[in-house]
Amino acid sequence: MAPVVYPTTNLTATEQLVFERGEGIYIFDNKGKRYIEGLAGLWCTSLGYSNQEVIDAITEQLNTLPFSHTFGGKTHQPIMDLAEKIREIVPVEDAYVFFGNSGSDANDSHYKMLRYYFNAIGKPEKRKIITRERGYHGVTVAAGSLTSLPANLAHFDAPLEALSILRTASPHYYTGRRGNETEEQFVDRILEELETQIQQEGPETIAAMIIEPITGASGVIVPPNGYYEKLQAILRKHDILIWADEVICGFGRTGNDFGCTTMGIQPDLMTFAKQLSSAYFPISAAVIPGWMYEAMIEPSNQVGVFGHGFTYSGHPAACAAALKTLEIYERDNMFAHAAEVGAHLQQRLRETFESHPLVGEVRGRGLIAALELVSNKTTGASFDKGIAGATAQRACEKHGVILRAVAGNALAFCPPLIITTKQVDDMVAAVSVALDETY
Ligand code: PLP
Repeated sequence: MAPVVYPTTNLTATEQLVFERGEGIYIFDNKGKRYIEGLAGLWCTSLGYSNQEVIDAITEQLNTLPFSHTFGGKTHQPIMDLAEKIREIVPVEDAYVFFGNSGSDANDSHYKMLRYYFNAIGKPEKRKIITRERGYHGVTVAAGSLTSLPANLAHFDAPLEALSILRTASPHYYTGRRGNETEEQFVDRILEELETQIQQEGPETIAAMIIEPITGASGVIVPPNGYYEKLQAILRKHDILIWADEVICGFGRTGNDFGCTTMGIQPDLMTFAKQLSSAYFPISAAVIPGWMYEAMIEPSNQVGVFGHGFTYSGHPAACAAALKTLEIYERDNMFAHAAEVGAHLQQRLRETFESHPLVGEVRGRGLIAALELVSNKTTGASFDKGIAGATAQRACEKHGVILRAVAGNALAFCPPLIITTKQVDDMVAAVSVALDETY
């Protein structure tokens, strides 16, 4: 074993796959075996592994100005251009953008900017953040505490109370329904519980609710129809901001520009990373509305500085990668392509797996999906400790497809946006053989 503390890895595990190169949607290991990257790396390599235009844009930037920080009035053209571009495309009024390096740090940045903002407008008590069970928002201290997965919390002594985090139910009907509850009854129940919680806590103490439009890393959860409409009405009524974590859903993944568009959400804040640069360079963006930025100017003037920033905030090569990626999305109609191929993926998954004895639910939207593996198809009973998920993941690898078992037994699909319908068919056929073997 190399002396690496591997991230999000069972530390008793040994190194299993060593990757050497990539081409289009394929990735090759050090024995020359080819795999379809069915999870786009970690939900991020939207343009695949060999996009020469993005590589050239980064190289050109590295050859010109490989680094320049952006503290205290110093800046460079790529960061300004990228912020303008993001403002042009996001559904946030007069957007301002704070840049970082990862989805986690962008969520921490939002967390801190919310504090800064509410302190600035004289409402320091408005500081609590609502997050959902099964939400995934990263692993840094604030983002990791907003995440609700046990492995990301246990043994880290997350200071949840100090961070003022409130949790509410996940909108996953399949695993969360009670008895014969209809989808509508399920939605009404969990939202009633939420509203009661808001009233008990005091809406004046709650700043925002963070949501992934479609929850990704904890199992690709698409909330039932009507959920977001009712949720937004409650949040607006109580003056609670809507913070959309689009780290996975952003930029075409769900078949539209943003997950918010697909799910009918009007966000106040947005978080981006991953597909923002198609993972060719680490970059994240925490987007806030103009009215929030303006309110932060005066206190910054008093303190002398807005005291938050990373050495690599708006790294020029990262901005160049993101600018080129966004240009390609637009020029090549990538989101329309994702919608078309995504509809095909959803149809093929349903046709192939809905009646499979191991699959309790097939779910997803656009080019993101999951199969819920169950030990009893009738009751939906789950396998213990994610054994089926891990076994199925390995079987898929044997048959040349990289997928990821998440939240135990959900087998997640999130291929590069450039995948074709033929490649979707190849992937589904290989996974079908793998699941038959797992069963
Ligand atoms: N938010 C969401 C919705 C994510 O899915 C992830 C990562 O998967 C993050 C935040 C954290 O991003 P990063 O791993 O870049 O810190």
